[in-house]
Amino acid sequence: MRSSHGAAHLKNQFASDNYAGICPEAWQAMAEANQGFANAYGEDRWTARACDLLRDFFETDCQVYFVFNGTAGNSLALASLCNSYHSVICHEIAHVETDECGAAEFFSNGTKILLVPGENGKIDLDAVAHTVTRRADIHYPKPKVLSITQATELGTVYSPSELQAIGACAHEFGMRLHMDGARLGNALAHLDRTPADLTWRAGVDVLTLGGTKNGMAVGEAVVFFDPALAEEFDYRCKQAGQLASKMRFLAAPWIGMLESGAYLRNAAHANRCAALLEERLRQIPGIDICYPRQANAVFVSLPPRVSQELERRGWRFYTFIGLGQARFMCSWQTCEADIDALAAEIRSLSTEA
Ligand SMILES: *Cc1c(COP(=O)(O)O)cnc(C)c1O
Repeated sequence: MRSSHGAAHLKNQFASDNYAGICPEAWQAMAEANQGFANAYGEDRWTARACDLLRDFFETDCQVYFVFNGTAGNSLALASLCNSYHSVICHEIAHVETDECGAAEFFSNGTKILLVPGENGKIDLDAVAHTVTRRADIHYPKPKVLSITQATELGTVYSPSELQAIGACAHEFGMRLHMDGARLGNALAHLDRTPADLTWRAGVDVLTLGGTKNGMAVGEAVVFFDPALAEEFDYRCKQAGQLASKMRFLAAPWIGMLESGAYLRNAAHANRCAALLEERLRQIPGIDICYPRQANAVFVSLPPRVSQELERRGWRFYTFIGLGQARFMCSWQTCEADIDALAAEIRSLSTEA
């Protein structure tokens, strides 16, 4: 590993929700699963229970697989839906495109990612239609999947009616709909709708459901709402090095988080923190909020001097997503004092001569 940047114990951090630790409910569930021997490779009772709880959560008989991270979940899900001569359509700033090092193309043996624009991180359906229909010949990689991110990379949330329209569009063009739900919890907390409404009832065929950013140590779930699509997915996971032998420790946290309600509670807390930060920042002259703040991220355009000085003083945040913008991400672990301190520091830097 590279040597770490800054202090060993980070405070004042708004870089990402994966900088947070493990929430108590996930930690406790791992401890409870740590009893003696259990069958390996997912043949244990915790894995069976976690799958059942996710079926309850989504109110449908879906197929569930636990993988180590979102890159694997997304790229293996997409690979399972495509042949090498197909294409996947996604937003130009989708994680699949910008942050997965070509994993989807790699695991699918060459499926091409086709990018479309869209405001506020949301896919533009006219652009999708254009991308699908502009060519119908064998010289063009055949569009097979539409992939969307909920909540989006810009902290916005697709509404239920937007999701319905996306699902209808994908299926009309003979495509499958994949959802990168690294932060689906945050979208659920924002919309106050059921997981079913925001996924399969809107046409989502396969979902990558985030656990890590919500408060788990490690692990995401790949959920197939059409069990036929999951055929041989277990082999794909194994070949990609994503079949955990001590699967119970990937699965148990889902039990703890779902049974206790922490999954939605953590997301709602992170969203509330972001709302509070937004409210504080809006009161500072010269600071602009860039997108509708709906989930747990606040994007702000900061004068470069303020941004550099904040970094120098030890605040951690991302500046590479929107150009000239700072992203402040809240998590289950963010507390009001952190928000107050950050807002106060931005205020004092912004009002300095
Ligand atoms: C964090 C994230 C992922 C998963 O990233 P990994 O580091 O591979 O776990 C996937 N999609 C989005 C939108 C993310 O923010």
